Amino acid sequence: MQKPGIYLHVPFCRTKCPYCGFYSIASTSLLPRWIDAVNQEAACYTDRFQCFDSLYIGGGTPSLLKVCELGRLLECLFTYFEFALNTEITIEVNPCDINKEKVKDIKGLGFNRVNTGVQSLDNLELKFLGRRHTAEDAEKALERLRTSGFKNIGVDLIYGFQGQSLKGWIKTLKRILIFRPEHISCYELTFEKRTLFSRMKEKGLLSPLSEEAERSFFLLTSRFLEENGYIHYEISSFAKKEVYCSRHNRKYWHHAPYLGLGPSAHSFQNSTRWWNHCSVKKYSEALDNNARPVEGYEILTNEQLRLESIALGLRTRDGFHIRKDKIIPGLEDTLFMLEESGFIHVNNDRVVPTKKGFLVADYLPLYFTS
Ligand code: SF4
Repeated sequence: MQKPGIYLHVPFCRTKCPYCGFYSIASTSLLPRWIDAVNQEAACYTDRFQCFDSLYIGGGTPSLLKVCELGRLLECLFTYFEFALNTEITIEVNPCDINKEKVKDIKGLGFNRVNTGVQSLDNLELKFLGRRHTAEDAEKALERLRTSGFKNIGVDLIYGFQGQSLKGWIKTLKRILIFRPEHISCYELTFEKRTLFSRMKEKGLLSPLSEEAERSFFLLTSRFLEENGYIHYEISSFAKKEVYCSRHNRKYWHHAPYLGLGPSAHSFQNSTRWWNHCSVKKYSEALDNNARPVEGYEILTNEQLRLESIALGLRTRDGFHIRKDKIIPGLEDTLFMLEESGFIHVNNDRVVPTKKGFLVADYLPLYFTS
């Protein structure tokens, strides 16, 4: 039984990036109120979860918080909840915020993993993505994090936007490797609802990658990073060693329990998933009225849980277990056909996706519906 994890959503950014679908607002006027609300929300869950072994502070832009604000949040979480000794404690940071002081503060607060939103090391691409930082800022931030002694540094990158060449993308990856990050996430640019980029796409001003280009970017990325010693353990995730695979994210993929605090955060326990209001105001108001800030919930049936485990498993190199107690008509033929076509490997009772399988991970689960 896996231990649970906590995700805390910081819903503030200095500016909104045109591709970003995460909930955040470009103003910090509600920040003090939000901190009080997180305290109130944490208090609602003190008895519901046992000892956590991962804490992930994401957003939004957690690094725009002052050290005293981050300290207050951590103090609240450590007061209300029990954590294992070796808990993975991650904070997402924007390279612009990473000065000497900040790095020292983050380290002093006990964070042992830092995930850096680099996105690209090409200044024109960064401009197109609406990022506040330059390639030089990002490199300086990675350098500072490393020299300050962080032993688990993650880098988020985006690929696959109009005008980007494979050559340019590999150049970014090569420059990133100079810093030997323990973890690299490579996300293909997607057009999320209600973003400027999706509106531009609707107007024909931007277009997604062709399937062929998508395939080339994906396979080249995987090959390049594997050749450089990284484990491609999830569609978008690479780790320098097994121990650096994100413990927190694995909870999402393995149906482990997790508690999401803050506006828009999702939680999962047993068979129930619930999610919070996607508005700092509504979230805080609910807590002021002594109610949990939950906007909705669903209780998954055994069949839904089974299908979700398959869909999530097929996104990772862990794959999924074939349940002997659940006989799906024609399963053997399906497995044979998918293996022959190069989408999966079957090892005893475990189904593991290949690279080709990763490319169609959204469709593969359809073969396992009963
Ligand atoms: S990508 Fe990060 S910095 Fe940009 S709007 Fe989204 S959460 Fe904020």
